[in-house]
Amino acid sequence: MYDVSTRKRALVLVAQGRSLHSVSRETGISRSAIRHWLTRLEPLERTPPCFRCQGPPSAPEDAAAYAYLLGLYLGDGYIISKPRQHYLMITCTASWPGLIAAAEDAMRKVLPWPNTTRLQRLGCVDVKSFSKHWTCVFPQHGPGKKHELPIVLEAWQQAVVDAHPWEFVRGLIHSDGCRITNWTTRMVKGERKRYEYPRYLFTNVSDVIRRLYTETLDKLGIEWTHCTRNGNPYDISVARKASVALLDTYVGPTY
Ligand SMILES: [Zn+2]
Repeated sequence: MYDVSTRKRALVLVAQGRSLHSVSRETGISRSAIRHWLTRLEPLERTPPCFRCQGPPSAPEDAAAYAYLLGLYLGDGYIISKPRQHYLMITCTASWPGLIAAAEDAMRKVLPWPNTTRLQRLGCVDVKSFSKHWTCVFPQHGPGKKHELPIVLEAWQQAVVDAHPWEFVRGLIHSDGCRITNWTTRMVKGERKRYEYPRYLFTNVSDVIRRLYTETLDKLGIEWTHCTRNGNPYDISVARKASVALLDTYVGPTY
């Protein structure tokens, strides 16, 4: 007979991807006993801990992927966390397969083990990753609508954003931004010429998320302006040629 903590220790090792053989050798528990607990689906924790809840909390292994996913999450992400139902969902426009693949890829790089699925809805695809550890990874999760929550990045998250600002901006633009082209014509030496003005727009109702975006743009030396809607600040526009060129190089349009 083994006590609960011994069982738990063995199952945590298995959940970390170790072979039954090596767990058996380390714990002295027979392989058949471990297999028996696994097949009986012991009501013990079988999800391995994540980089935030295992030992002293650490930074994500793939910080660039985290910065991008944080941008996507703040833009179009949602966490469900209730008994028997835990997942992170990023809603992507269905006509942007590149974004759907990038979102899924970033989820797998940040938390490698959970299952991911894609759920097609009208005009969009929900990419989901099932793990209760998404609340460790994005502690901003809480009841209520995201734009009503006080979103403050924790120090370790801010450090990741500071180290990978372009990835963070890319995630935000991919979820809540777009690259549009305005045009106009002008007479030059008797000839009508067409001029195009590409710009990046970022739209989010949350003052806090817009500020996270503009603070990061400031650090990157990108000029931006507020556009108002019904007198309220709403869109952030990047239209200066040099700034648009930087975003074209490091972010690019969503595809
Ligand atoms: Zn965790």
